[in-house]
Amino acid sequence: MGAKARAWFSRGLLVLVVVAGVLLVLGLPGIPAWGRAVMLLVGFGVGVGIAFRQIPAFDPLGRVRWRVPGRDARVCALSFDDGPSAETMRLLDILARCQIKATFFVLADKARRHPDVLRRLAAEGHTVALHGNSHAKLHRASEAQIERELSAAVRGLHELGVTPVRLYRPPHGLKNSAVFRVTKRLGFQIWAWSRGIWDTDGPAPEVLVRRATRFACSGMVLLLHDGRGNEEKPNIEPMLSALPLIVERLRSRGFGFVTLDQV
Ligand SMILES: [Zn+2]
Repeated sequence: MGAKARAWFSRGLLVLVVVAGVLLVLGLPGIPAWGRAVMLLVGFGVGVGIAFRQIPAFDPLGRVRWRVPGRDARVCALSFDDGPSAETMRLLDILARCQIKATFFVLADKARRHPDVLRRLAAEGHTVALHGNSHAKLHRASEAQIERELSAAVRGLHELGVTPVRLYRPPHGLKNSAVFRVTKRLGFQIWAWSRGIWDTDGPAPEVLVRRATRFACSGMVLLLHDGRGNEEKPNIEPMLSALPLIVERLRSRGFGFVTLDQV
């Protein structure tokens, strides 16, 4: 099952569980009204807790940024996760031809394997932000583990001669309250995205173009990938083929492009 199908399956399952839970509580015999209210409130609290960890852009306290603010100007941002990889060089050629700067949430482990790519990213004016040291999921990690992961990532990039901006996107967008405590202490802003196009599934380029542009709205932050898992030479061909068309179509509708450290 592809990532898009998995995402819709889990959303559908979540809705079913919520509906079933509410119906169950309302239908239980012999429970006073206040008891039902308490059960629904507890269920609501558990649901919010799960959503907080699992939904990248969701935080009841509004600490996650996920779109470019301002509704007047037509702006959007391209963000790339899971690189750098050997294929990032081709992506950088395309971005240079399109004269667009993008935000790269890089993994330090990958950067160590592709230091030249990392340095080219920075030299060409793209924003180098953090996705982690490894691609470890952190929504169940302790504060110490999260701090180790982030500090190792910053140190790793420094050793390669690049200073990342203080923007951080947790792997898979998963998070817990410890992630917020550590990022606050280290001065990082957490960024999610407003539109994922599931390019890692490798659909045809025209599918990616449609997903990226069909309901394009001002402030959109697109999630794309220049790496995949631990693959040394990931196949990002569909995304590379789609990208010039995505840019062309958005520009024809009056969109400009910004990097996330500009907003
Ligand atoms: Zn990732």
